[in-house]
Amino acid sequence: MMTAKEYIDSLRKLNTRVYMFGEKIDNWVDHPMIRPSINCVAMTYALAQDPQYEDLMTATSNLTGRKINRFAHLHQSTEDLVKKVKMQRLMGQKTASCFQRCVGMDAFNAVYSTTYEIDEACGTGYHENFKKFLIMVQDEDLTVDGAMTDPKGDRSKAPHQQSDPDMYVHVVERRADGIVVCGAKCHQTGSVNSHWHLFMPTISMGEKDADWAVSFACPSDAEGLYMIYGRQSCDTRKLEEGCSIDVGNAKFGGQEALVVLDHVFIPNEYIFLNGEYQFAGMMVERFAGYHRQSYGGCKVGVGDVVIGAAALAAEYNGVEKASAVKDKLIEMTHLNETLYSCGIACSCEGCPTKAGNYQIDLLLANVCKQNVTRFPYEIVRLAEDIAGGLMVTMPSQKDFESDLPVGREGETIGEICRKYFATREGVSAEERQRVLRFLENMCLGAAAVGYRTESMHGAGSPQAQRIMIARQGDIEGKKKLAKNIAGIQ
Ligand code: SF4
Ligand code: FE
Repeated sequence: MMTAKEYIDSLRKLNTRVYMFGEKIDNWVDHPMIRPSINCVAMTYALAQDPQYEDLMTATSNLTGRKINRFAHLHQSTEDLVKKVKMQRLMGQKTASCFQRCVGMDAFNAVYSTTYEIDEACGTGYHENFKKFLIMVQDEDLTVDGAMTDPKGDRSKAPHQQSDPDMYVHVVERRADGIVVCGAKCHQTGSVNSHWHLFMPTISMGEKDADWAVSFACPSDAEGLYMIYGRQSCDTRKLEEGCSIDVGNAKFGGQEALVVLDHVFIPNEYIFLNGEYQFAGMMVERFAGYHRQSYGGCKVGVGDVVIGAAALAAEYNGVEKASAVKDKLIEMTHLNETLYSCGIACSCEGCPTKAGNYQIDLLLANVCKQNVTRFPYEIVRLAEDIAGGLMVTMPSQKDFESDLPVGREGETIGEICRKYFATREGVSAEERQRVLRFLENMCLGAAAVGYRTESMHGAGSPQAQRIMIARQGDIEGKKKLAKNIAGIQ
């Protein structure tokens, strides 16, 4: 397994094409807006080296028998599924961010089981292709972006009906040695920080969509592949000097980008679906199911930090004993642990796929994610309530540190800030500044991308879960129960 440093060094060896603010970014590894997201992924490597987290962060590969990072593991039991959620909660607690590497893990598990069933039905050789690819990923301890979300153009039209065929990733040429693909994937979490990309379709498809029913892997710096970095709320604070407190979380952050495939050649050995349109939906459903389980871990870990920060803000203001504050913290904890309960429940109720790896209970995973589209918003509302308005009105770090005299007796801007933003004894103005800026970042700054909007739309928007809940909820079975008790024939 790689160390955190080896992971960061390995990124420098890639020729990944990254664009931001209309320019090509050559040294993206050290770019102040990108680096926090790299630090996050690096934590998936660092914690795997730490003996106290070995049980959660590592696993034994069913393919090779070797010890691997759990982020590259195929779940072999419900216990593995539970450990996955616990690992994600731990990672959320350590970074207060989206740590990005889960999309690859969830894609591995979905593509592994789906390729087995495609081969069984169609006599193809995708499963062997995929196993070879995954052994490389496990042995080299690579980070892989599981890439699903196409731009989708006109949502009322199927892929083959779009006026621009690139609205969904598709095959433009079939050769004896492989395929050439075009298209793009939107808001790709961790794409710049990944060594490889694993592409999957984004919706169920019909016969006419066969050219769009395609799954494959390619290196992040493949010829014809490039990324346009997504910006986040308040992101340019990271570019300001002497602004580390104002940033809120100077070390960690999330990342999304638009990934473009402009006539990228994919050799046969890296193809996992190529025209078998009947299986596009299975791949989508399984990946989405795993990622909806994931949110019962990662968002809970981040929630732990938000709750802790709100409690600190209350303590610093001297109101921590107020019953109203205590009750708000109880409510936040209740909501957060409800999400965790869903993540654990869908894992415990998992079952083996035909390929042998374990899948979560799909209904419970969708319930988990549906709750995630709501509860973090309420947790954040309560955090803002406890924090008070100062969270968004406080002068800058530079003001707090300024030596410019402004008062009648020569008091500096810094002294005036520290005087008026002082609070209870034993708490410095800087500590208060730090905790409030952290909450600002979580509630409406760059980190709100991961904690709020990603909770809404990541792993599928709320309606996508409601469709699955409708499909899995067995209303007919429930009607029978009612008829039986009520004595209706
Ligand atoms: Fe992992 Fe959560 Fe980020 Fe998805 S949103 S990649 S599950 S941390
Ligand atoms: Fe996500």
